[in-house]
Amino acid sequence: MAGLPDRLMAVVQEHWGFRQLRPMQERAIAAVLARRDSLVVLPTGGGKSLCYQAPAVYRHAGGAKGVTLIVSPLIALMKDQVDSLQRIGVNAIGFNSSQTAAEKADAVQSLKHGSSPIVFASPERLTLEGFTGYLNGFGVSAVAIDEAHCISQWGHDFRPEYRKLGRLREVFPGASIHAYTATATETVRLDIARQLQLDDPEILVGNFDRPNLIYRVLPRLDKTKQVREVLDRHRGHAAIVYCLSRANVDALAAQLRGSGYHALAYHAGMNNDDRRRAQETFTNAEAPIVVATVAFGMGIDRPDVRAVIHVGMPKSIENYQQEAGRAGRDGLPSECVLLYSGADKIQLRSMIEKSAHEAAGRGEVVAAEFVPACLGHLEDMDRYARGAVCRHKALVQHFGQTLESPTCGACDLCLGDVTEVPDAITVAQKILSCVARVNQAFGVGHVVSVLHGDRSEAVTSRRHDQLSTHGLLREVSLNTLRDWVYQLLGQGAIAQSEGEYPVLKLTKLSWEVMHGRHAVRLIELVRHDKERPARRGAAATTNAGRPSANTPLLGSNYDAELFEKLRQLRRDLANTEKVPAYRVLPDSVLLAFAASPPKTLDAMRQVTGVGDVKLKAYGLTFLKLILDHSPAAALAVVTARKAASGGARAVTDRKKLAFSMYRDATYIEDVVQQLDVARSTAVGYLVEFIEAEKPTDISRWVRDDDYVEIAAAAQTHGRETLKAIYDALDEQVTYDEIKLVLAHQDATR
Ligand code: ADP
Ligand code: ZN
Repeated sequence: MAGLPDRLMAVVQEHWGFRQLRPMQERAIAAVLARRDSLVVLPTGGGKSLCYQAPAVYRHAGGAKGVTLIVSPLIALMKDQVDSLQRIGVNAIGFNSSQTAAEKADAVQSLKHGSSPIVFASPERLTLEGFTGYLNGFGVSAVAIDEAHCISQWGHDFRPEYRKLGRLREVFPGASIHAYTATATETVRLDIARQLQLDDPEILVGNFDRPNLIYRVLPRLDKTKQVREVLDRHRGHAAIVYCLSRANVDALAAQLRGSGYHALAYHAGMNNDDRRRAQETFTNAEAPIVVATVAFGMGIDRPDVRAVIHVGMPKSIENYQQEAGRAGRDGLPSECVLLYSGADKIQLRSMIEKSAHEAAGRGEVVAAEFVPACLGHLEDMDRYARGAVCRHKALVQHFGQTLESPTCGACDLCLGDVTEVPDAITVAQKILSCVARVNQAFGVGHVVSVLHGDRSEAVTSRRHDQLSTHGLLREVSLNTLRDWVYQLLGQGAIAQSEGEYPVLKLTKLSWEVMHGRHAVRLIELVRHDKERPARRGAAATTNAGRPSANTPLLGSNYDAELFEKLRQLRRDLANTEKVPAYRVLPDSVLLAFAASPPKTLDAMRQVTGVGDVKLKAYGLTFLKLILDHSPAAALAVVTARKAASGGARAVTDRKKLAFSMYRDATYIEDVVQQLDVARSTAVGYLVEFIEAEKPTDISRWVRDDDYVEIAAAAQTHGRETLKAIYDALDEQVTYDEIKLVLAHQDATR
């Protein structure tokens, strides 16, 4: 691993049980160890916390003096984070105003004894000179700021108390400063760096796609029924339902409770105790459903939330990314559903205008750009909801990234939940000619009403009712017409001018479409009913292995009975210890156990997420359950391994196991170890897996930039010999990587 000390990985394995770092983590950790300021942008679930925690523990293990200070926005969560670390054998401590005297005394003792590598503090604490001076006495080698976008007014979650963090540089002159956020827009990024006075920071921006999340947008029809449909797909798991208003929260939570769901309400209008209780229940209960306003969630790090439902449109794509991103932090398949109505934009707009007005009324300074910027964010979000572009693609595009594969296999559009408009090109041509007929001088609303054949004052006064395009799409509802215009905008088949009153403009692509030389896609955002015959074509073949709208999401490549037993055991242990279940072991680990049951403690230790501390605490208990559950299977695996020459049957078994592991994005090295096969065999299985299941993304096994290089070299030098590609890339990639990329290209072509 480039530039990182060997011992670091040992520390990570020992405490966290991770066998490899993710690419951005490597670079982020290297920056901390080199004492270079950094700004790390990774999506929720991207693994930011390891970036600052691992270097702290590593330094401390090596006997270095000094602590890493972690600033985190919510006091309520600090205890949670401290506990999590304690449970993996890291003596973290925290200071905040809601501590008891005894807790504080404990923390002070740890500091004095130099036994704590990590100190958490709230932003408010850091404005107390006594406190910062005291910490300085112990030496602060690094400061990490979590949720750093809270410092920026341009972010979606500005917190005034974060502003004071601008002084950290002066307060801790000897420390490097590291900021972490999941919000990636350029403006916010620059603002964070400036506010924190970062010195030539290393800026690391990770991949924004969350391939394990399935995104859906449904027109909101019967919201309670629609919410229940989603919740029912994830019965037995945690979920979050976001509503726009407090009244909606209370009503929906009560309705769900009335129907027997374990639903809790959460919003800023509740008193502190009730809010804390809801938050605790969400953290600790087996399968809670929190119905909330957006006040809920920042810093909630429950990893096994299986569904996030928005009953109304969020304020911006950043907000959506952040809120929906709370699903599936553990990397397991999870679902994000947006129930959308065209009215949401209007409601949100008046909420924004009202709050700006109120702030001004209180004498607060509201920047002139503030309201227009918010409205722009709303517009983007609205376009996303109405769009016909793959949701994964649309989301990463918003963050300036691209997704190469033509279909993600994990959104309503790619899964074929939606209905394609037949003969979309003709419909598009009608819309475009209307834009031409009104001389590219009118906005969406006007064009849509002309197409619809309206005879409003606005139309007749301009004699647009005389146009040949007037009423050309009379049979289509105004709302759907608007969707389609947005869909054409999303595909670049039409453009919108800047400014307060944007008008529709034709582009080069528009003319291609008009001449029938370029295809477009239009969809009707209608739920794909069960009654309707299955749609022809793409969906069925491209989505191998992906769940459809009506199947549970965790897939079927594991022993479901064993999984349930493991969960029960974990529940019992968690109850005894009074900790949340996932603190014992996360779902991802139990699923790995159920997919490929370990037969020894050593095999168990190879599973990602099983560190030494956890292994010692729980290994035997779980192993016993696994062996009891399937003594025959245990024997079969042992025999399969022993069969040195590997009879035909053992080979199929191993291949099956390998496939299920690759489906769970297991690294090649882990497959080698766990199945006890040669690396070449494991790579061979992976090639077959890619050919058979056509995964959209193979970045787990081939880094994205290597993938691009190899694909480019294959194009120039041909695909006949691997060597030509190998040589062309100066031996910078391996033959295995070349094989995998070529297989993937063939499979997804
Ligand atoms: P973030 O703070 O960016 O939202 P977290 O730090 O909570 O993300 O990590 C998200 C999930 O990824 C956690 O479940 C964590 O255990 C897991 N994780 C982080 N780093 C690794 C790694 N190197 N290997 C495997 N799992 C990891
Ligand atoms: Zn898609």
